Amino acid sequence: MNFKKIYKKIKLLFEQNGVDENCASFCADVLNDGRLNIHFRKEITLGDYFKLMLATKKRIKGVPTNKILKNQVFYGRNFYIDNNVLAPRVDTEFVVSEALEYIKKESKVLDLCTGSGIIAITINKESGANVFASDISSKALKIAKKNALTNEADVTFVQSDMFENIMEKGFDLIISNPPYIPSKDVGNLSKEVKDYDPIIALDGGEDGLDYYRIIEKNLSLYLLEEGKLILEIGYDEGESIKKLFSNYNTIIKKDYEGNDRVAIISYKKVNNARKTKKN
Ligand code: GLN
Repeated sequence: MNFKKIYKKIKLLFEQNGVDENCASFCADVLNDGRLNIHFRKEITLGDYFKLMLATKKRIKGVPTNKILKNQVFYGRNFYIDNNVLAPRVDTEFVVSEALEYIKKESKVLDLCTGSGIIAITINKESGANVFASDISSKALKIAKKNALTNEADVTFVQSDMFENIMEKGFDLIISNPPYIPSKDVGNLSKEVKDYDPIIALDGGEDGLDYYRIIEKNLSLYLLEEGKLILEIGYDEGESIKKLFSNYNTIIKKDYEGNDRVAIISYKKVNNARKTKKN
């Protein structure tokens, strides 16, 4: 079948239905083809045509492409996803790249609220570090374990409500992308987020900071003296995070869009004094 004609048909359908989607990327993703290759396609099989039309129908209904395909590329690797986990965001790639600056092969790392496992698995693959990861949701953990398997990553998964079942201590780095949207804003999120990402992965309580509070309370029990805490944070949460972690040193980094996105937290120097005494 002539691909150009089908391409035009999909593009028109997207326009008519107000779907803000790059048609070439969409076709390339659905057909599992390179984004450049798609421009040179002349013919497609009947099977591929049906695949494209089925996906287009779902996309028009508002299903995000990654949830139609049940796959999202993160840091160059494929991850299985479905409605039980938050779809990986490009913002989180930025958070991981910041964390990797502090991680060595010998590091012991904890990823809280791992969801599909993207952070834990990527860190293990990129650095070879010893990674532990937890989530409260057994459905999410099942997905994370599946992703670890397909990506041949070595991560220890624990079902835990934050630190509750974390028996390990002495982490060099703790990282988390917890739910951080203030409850009152959850209702205003786009339909694609609201309807296809689990609310439990988004709702951070009244001011969005509930899970950061739990982390702050427990941090000194789990983080080594020279350790770092890396948090993904909401676009305007930098100042509140600094206040919440006022007993620590906090650096806020903005993402490519200019929004607050990463908090890098470490002990104040007084803890180094403690360390000297211990040694
Ligand atoms: N960044 C996500 C969003 O805007 C929220 C992720 C989270 O709450 N951890 O949809």
